[in-house]
Amino acid sequence: MTKEDKELVSRIKELESINLARDEIRDVVVETKKGIEKENEKLANKIHENLLKNKIKSFDIVGAIGAGKTLILEKIIEKISSKYKILVICGDITTRIDAKRIEEKGSETIQINTGRECALNAYHIYQIIKNKNLEDYDVIFIENVGNLICPSDFILGTDMRITVVSITEGEWVIEKHPMLFKMSDIAVINKIDLLERLGTNIDKMIEDARRFNPKIQVILTSAKTGKNIDKLLKLMNLD
Ligand code: MG
Repeated sequence: MTKEDKELVSRIKELESINLARDEIRDVVVETKKGIEKENEKLANKIHENLLKNKIKSFDIVGAIGAGKTLILEKIIEKISSKYKILVICGDITTRIDAKRIEEKGSETIQINTGRECALNAYHIYQIIKNKNLEDYDVIFIENVGNLICPSDFILGTDMRITVVSITEGEWVIEKHPMLFKMSDIAVINKIDLLERLGTNIDKMIEDARRFNPKIQVILTSAKTGKNIDKLLKLMNLD
């Protein structure tokens, strides 16, 4: 074997060991993620049991920044706050802009700033509800951090998950996020007041949501004009 051949063999061995280490790291990451999701699920089940025991209806609302989650919540609260005692939990990386908007509608609101975390998890919710007298509430809404990816790793222990998209995000937005729609009970397609101007293919969005999850309920809304908010309340059993 020439000197060059020997060097080549040693380089190949080195690369093989790097690959093995990479595989091991990947396996550890996958196992850790599974472990975290399992622990989250256990805590979420405990939360849901607690909420059911106190006859609280609970909803978590997910969607991208600007899809209209907060405005939809504001419209819902306007309609039902005289009938139900409501607690709203708002998740955001930073700021309490959403909490402030919702507080102005007269609901008790708690803001969670997640810092570097891109979604709320059951631990965040547990920290809040364990210190609350749950007998004081009829309905809990959780508005998640604005994005369509991270929330699919964590259930929060609510009766229903509602995913809000808007037609301004384009007709591929549902097709590109199958995980979230598979685990949602209601898909809200918002901002339909802009349909004429944007020409978004809403039929495709509806078909995609139903293809990923045949049980999902799809509703078209305009939070801005209030269109179909009553129908949404009906789907949430809050009418
Ligand atoms: Mg918001």
